[in-house]
Amino acid sequence: MKRLIAILLIVLTAASPVQAASMSSNELPELGDTASSIVTPEQEYVLGRAWMRQLRGSTPSVSDPLVQDYLERLAYRLAFHSPMEHPDLSLIIIKDRQINAFAVPGGVVGVNVGLLLYAETEAEAAAVLAHEFGHLSQRHFARRLAENKQNQWLYLGAMLASIALAAAGDGQAGFAGLASTQAAMVDNQLSYSRQYEQEADRIGMQTLVDSGMDPHAMPTFFQRLQRQSRQVGNIPEFILTHPLTESRITDTINRANQYPQKLTQDSLDYQLVRVRLATTYLSDSGRGVAFFQQQLIDTNANTDRARINRLGLALALTREREYAKAREALVPLLSENPQRVDYLVAATEIDFAEQKYDDAIRRLEPVLTLNPDNYPLLVYYARAQIAANHPERVIERLEAAARERSDDPQIWRLLVDAYTGSKNNLGIFRSKAEVYFLSGDNEKALEQLQLAADGAKKNYPLTAKIQKRMREMQPEKDKKS
Ligand SMILES: [Zn+2]
Repeated sequence: MKRLIAILLIVLTAASPVQAASMSSNELPELGDTASSIVTPEQEYVLGRAWMRQLRGSTPSVSDPLVQDYLERLAYRLAFHSPMEHPDLSLIIIKDRQINAFAVPGGVVGVNVGLLLYAETEAEAAAVLAHEFGHLSQRHFARRLAENKQNQWLYLGAMLASIALAAAGDGQAGFAGLASTQAAMVDNQLSYSRQYEQEADRIGMQTLVDSGMDPHAMPTFFQRLQRQSRQVGNIPEFILTHPLTESRITDTINRANQYPQKLTQDSLDYQLVRVRLATTYLSDSGRGVAFFQQQLIDTNANTDRARINRLGLALALTREREYAKAREALVPLLSENPQRVDYLVAATEIDFAEQKYDDAIRRLEPVLTLNPDNYPLLVYYARAQIAANHPERVIERLEAAARERSDDPQIWRLLVDAYTGSKNNLGIFRSKAEVYFLSGDNEKALEQLQLAADGAKKNYPLTAKIQKRMREMQPEKDKKS
């Protein structure tokens, strides 16, 4: 815990001379400059990623590679069209049915399952993300620091408290609450100002339009949120940190009307991911087999609606362990589009449930060969090879993926399994170290790397590599400068 506080203190100390200078002036300098001088984007990046690791270690998240992949593509598409300077994103899906999403400095993006279940179209979910990116691009966090000294301490204090609580090991309640509302805002008092909300809406809507999506999705979603918040005791978390007023909604309606009207189609990708989440998280509210069967009767074949319901039926049947019927439900989908990853993964999950790992390998291998960079395909293929006792067949691919996605715990966990299966201790230690590191447990990570270093003794290049990684994981205060 002390170490994490030390990281923050170092950031503070580094910032204080400039900050002291700006505070001594009676006139507030130009906002952007002051913001940069108090916390630089580089410091935000370091803080943001450290915070993300603590978040992973303390908050239940969803590690479904299909959902992860879809959201990463959506987030990057929006980030590319937003005025953000360095869109290097790290994305986490929070296992929480509250409607919320957040983006904090350092490119950390969090999306609650609840947002995806509640947003009826891709553009609605994107509107929330684009709004968050609006805050990020304008560096509203840092600018708030610049406004007055008290806010600055509140901001850093909130961050410090959350990290300290989490590191102390009993932070579940405090930290998870903080995390799922908003990084640096503990309660309503720290919500964004009206001016920042309007700015984020304006920039977010432009991002939405530039990404080819319907700007009206923003007011539509806000209005639905407002209706929901009127139900007693059910104020969505997103509204707590981003106050939603009538005038804000009217503004977004007027603004959306200024864009030329275009016919945009909703995304099948989004709805297939959404039905996947619905069958996992809404099983208690009637999204079962009967629901999808009824929906299918009521929808025309050969429409996206029918495809969505059919996949929902197959997934619901799989959860009910009706494997033969689940496969049957997938037949029309796979014959229409044999390479669509959502369908392939659904079929593979049935293979796994029936322990038919060789079938899964045969199913995935040709498609993965054509699409070697496809993340969900790789994850399922690796799981299948490891389960079929052929871990050595995927280690190279997984190592390559780990280089591309070094902050993805899923890939490192698969590497732990693959190295365990092939009895490679050095590989186990090194990949376990990354898993610990990514969940904020630097101490255990360093223990694993020490074991790896002990095992690598005579191999000097490898030892040097391990030692370099150990220095990178070393808590700030222990580093020799
Ligand atoms: Zn906002």
